[in-house]
Amino acid sequence: MFEKLKQKLKRVVERVSQKAAPEAPPEAPPEAPPEAPPEVPPKAPPAVPPPGKPRRALRRVVKRIIRSELAPEDVEDIIWELQVGLLESDVAVPVADHVIERVKAGLTGRKLGLREDPKKLADEVLRQAIQEVLTTEQRVDLLKVIDAKRAQGEPAVIVFVGINGHGKTTSIAKLARYLMDRGYKPVLAAADTFRAAGIEQLEIHAERLGVGVIKQKRGADAAAVAYDAIAHAKARGLDVVLVDTAGRMQTDVNLMDEMRKIVRVAKPDLTIFVGDALTGNDVVEQARTFDQAVGISGSILCKMDADARGGAALSITQVTGKPILFLGTGQGYDDLVEFKPEILLNALFAD
Ligand code: GDP
Ligand code: GDP
Repeated sequence: MFEKLKQKLKRVVERVSQKAAPEAPPEAPPEAPPEAPPEVPPKAPPAVPPPGKPRRALRRVVKRIIRSELAPEDVEDIIWELQVGLLESDVAVPVADHVIERVKAGLTGRKLGLREDPKKLADEVLRQAIQEVLTTEQRVDLLKVIDAKRAQGEPAVIVFVGINGHGKTTSIAKLARYLMDRGYKPVLAAADTFRAAGIEQLEIHAERLGVGVIKQKRGADAAAVAYDAIAHAKARGLDVVLVDTAGRMQTDVNLMDEMRKIVRVAKPDLTIFVGDALTGNDVVEQARTFDQAVGISGSILCKMDADARGGAALSITQVTGKPILFLGTGQGYDDLVEFKPEILLNALFAD
């Protein structure tokens, strides 16, 4: 996961370190006693500082470092590299631009102060920019939503939208397992009534997981299936209804109308977009389209195990303003990871 993006960012950090490294000692700063040049070159301090080193010598070194400042052309150079790196990692253009603006502001004219080494500075500036992109105003706590409904004696309804073949059915199955592991009782609704194979696939998952599935025949009204499933959950005292839906091209007007109808009828507590990280920028466009049509609460990004670029995660959050709830990391039912921005940040900035 995120390997490519990580490498690109690492390269940018290295560049900042190179550019920010002081090239020559300053010529005779008035405060510095001229007699003693620093014994410790700032770039390669000894692992263990000699004992009793007077603070004045240390200060001189610090002063030298403070003098080093990133020139505008150095910043331009670094920014260029960052831009290419982000785009090559599948970060959408407006999102890359946002990160770049932040990094530029963070680096321009920046002097390195005490306790700062260039690598740390670059890490910090990049990390902050990316954290900003990953932080959404809206937060979603799935279990809290379910608990709140349970307290009212009602099942929580979660509708899943997304393009066929991108992992929707598998993600529903994974989430059913996730909820069952935590003591919740889900039921699945086969509201992708357009494809017979879609209904069958959900049934296979349901059987393997030992969870119920509510379906009608192919071609039935999708909203009616969702409605049935909710009634079933209420009657049986189940906690969560996970509604699978059809997903042809997001540009399909009928499909979007169908999604709107399901949402109108089922009144979901959460509507989750499921996207395939491997489709890069397309997944961002899909998320935006579904969000505009039905208003998504957040996303699940699948196939992260196969996606080395990692940019989709950044883009999808920034473009929709909705959080990523889970990452799909494989084909097994347990391959579902709760997403937190720190996961991505730590993966990107690990040594
Ligand atoms: P749907 O048509 O959107 O319901 O897609 P499916 O759930 O049937 O998934 C399509 C294919 O992607 C299946 O072969 C899944 O096993 C696979 N898949 C789903 N999620 C993941 C994931 O996180 N990682 C990997 N490697 N494969 C996944
Ligand atoms: P196309 O010519 O094959 O693209 O078919 P249309 O888009 O004209 O759809 C024909 C009918 O099937 C319409 O009445 C739609 O409501 C219905 N339909 C189209 N797509 C879906 C879908 O994804 N799910 C469901 N349940 N019905 C659909």
